[in-house]
Amino acid sequence: MATAALIPSIDSNVSKFVSQTQKMLINGKHVEAASGKTFATYNPATGEVLANVAEGDREDIDRAVKAARAAFESGPWSRMSPAERGKLIWKLGDLIDKHLEEFAQLESLDNGKPLKVARVADVPLSAAHFHYYAGWATKIEGNTIPLTMAAPLKYLAYTVREPVGVVGQIIPWNFPLLMAAWKLGPALATGCTVVLKPAEQTPLSALCLGELIQEAGFPDGVVNIVPGFGETAGAALAAHPDVDKVAFTGSTEVGRLIIQAAAGNLKKVSLELGGKSPNVILEDADIEAAIPGAASAIFFNHGQCCCAGSRLYVEKKVFDKVVDGIAKQAEKIQVKQGFDPDSDMGPLVSEEQLNRVCGFLESGIKEGAKSIVGGARLGDKGYFVKPTVLVNTNQKMKVEREEIFGPVVTAIPFSDPSEIVARANDSVYGLAAGVWTKDIKKAHSIAAKLRAGTVWINCYNVFDAALPFGGYKQSGWGREMGHEVLEQYTEVKSVCAAL
Ligand code: ADP
Repeated sequence: MATAALIPSIDSNVSKFVSQTQKMLINGKHVEAASGKTFATYNPATGEVLANVAEGDREDIDRAVKAARAAFESGPWSRMSPAERGKLIWKLGDLIDKHLEEFAQLESLDNGKPLKVARVADVPLSAAHFHYYAGWATKIEGNTIPLTMAAPLKYLAYTVREPVGVVGQIIPWNFPLLMAAWKLGPALATGCTVVLKPAEQTPLSALCLGELIQEAGFPDGVVNIVPGFGETAGAALAAHPDVDKVAFTGSTEVGRLIIQAAAGNLKKVSLELGGKSPNVILEDADIEAAIPGAASAIFFNHGQCCCAGSRLYVEKKVFDKVVDGIAKQAEKIQVKQGFDPDSDMGPLVSEEQLNRVCGFLESGIKEGAKSIVGGARLGDKGYFVKPTVLVNTNQKMKVEREEIFGPVVTAIPFSDPSEIVARANDSVYGLAAGVWTKDIKKAHSIAAKLRAGTVWINCYNVFDAALPFGGYKQSGWGREMGHEVLEQYTEVKSVCAAL
C-alpha cells in the first residue's frame, strides 16, 4: 500500500495485488478467514506495511483439509491420467515464466531480496522445477517381484506406487516461491492433494501462485493455500488427523514440534531443517575461484540459506590471502533495498531476524571474535546488516556452532588437513558442505567422509530440480528434489496373486 506508492517502477499487477487484502485459496475459491481476521506483511526495506492478508487458523485449515480430501478421493483429480496431470504441471511452469517480472517484484518487496536476483534465480528455478516434475507424472512405476520361497509361476507379485494422500506443506520465508515449487511439484506429480501454508513473513507470492494454479486448470481443492502464523495455522495443519503427510522446511526447533504434532495420527513426515555448513579451502585450491565462491556461499540471499557456507575452514598457508579476498568481496557488496538496480544484497526479512543476527554479532565480539569487515547493522531504517567476516572464533562460541541465518561467516585456519573432516563434521547439522582443491583424489576422499546431504566440489549453492537436497543428522529427514522425493509422496502397495 504505502510502500507500493513509493516505488516508481512497480508492475501494475503487483500494485493491484498489494493494494487489496489478499484472501486464502480453499476449494478453488478466494475466501476470507473464518474469523474474519487479517494480518500485515511488511516491506523489510522500510518496515512499512506492504499488504494485508487473510489470517488462517484451525477452522480454515480444517476447511482446506476437507477440500483436499474430497479432491483426492472423488474429484476429477482422482480420475485424471498421469499424462493429464503432467500437462497441468507443465502449464503452471509456463505461467510462472510468463509472470516472471510480477513474481520477482513480489519476492523482492515481501522478502527484501534484490529484484535482479529474483529475476534470474527464484522465479526461473521455480518454473524449471514444475517443468521437471511434469515429466515425472508419467513415470511413477512399481516393480515385478520374483518371490524367493515360491516356485516360479506360482504367484505374480508386483508393487504399485500410490499417492500418499492429503499433504500439509509448511514453508519458510527465505525463498517463498521456490520453496512452494519444491513442495508442490512432487506432490502434484504423484497425484496427492495439498494444503500449503506459506510463512507469515512472505505470503504474497504463494497466493499469486494460487491464481496461476487456477488459471492452469487444476481442479478445485487440489491445492489449497492458507496463510497464517506458525503457532496457529501451521500447528493445526501438522496436527490435523485427516492429513496423511506433512512436509516442512524451516528451523530445526520447529521441526521437532512438527514431529510431535504429527505423532497423533502418525502421519508421514519429511523435514528440511537448519545447517551450519562447513566450506573447506585447501592450500592447493584455485584461490582466485575459491575466494568469490566462498563469499557467495555465505552472502547469497543475505546468508538466509539453510545451506549457507557459514563455517569457512582455510588451510593456514593461504588463510590471510583468502580472508583478505573475501573481506574485499564483502566490501564491494552493495547493500540496498531490493528494487535498487545496484542492490546486491537487500535487508533481512524481518526485525526479528535483524535482532537475531545482531545478537549473534554482539555475542561473538564479546567472546573475543574480531570482525575483519562488517559486524553491525547498516543504517537505521529497514533491516539491513553489513556482510561480515569474523576471525578469532573457536568451537565453543555460538557464532561458530549455531545457525546465524545472516550474512556472517566465521573464517577458521587449519594446519593439519588430516583433521579437517573431523572438524567439518563436528556439528549437530549435516545439510551441505564445500571443498575447494585442484587435487581430484583429495576432493573425492573428503567428499566421501563428510556427513552432509550435499557436497559441492569447487563450487557452491548449485541447485537443480534433478539433484536431491536434504540433511544428515539434525538437518532433516528425507530429500527434496530429484526422483528421491517421489518416494516421500507415495505409498508402496505389494500385490500378490496366486496363479
Ligand atoms: P524461521 O525461524 O526461519 O522463521 P520457522 O521454522 O519458525 O523458521 O518457520 C518456518 C515455517 O514454519 C513458517 O511457515 C512458520 O509459520 C511455520 N511454523 C512456525 N512454528 C510452527 C509450529 N509450531 N507448527 C507448525 N508450523 C510452524
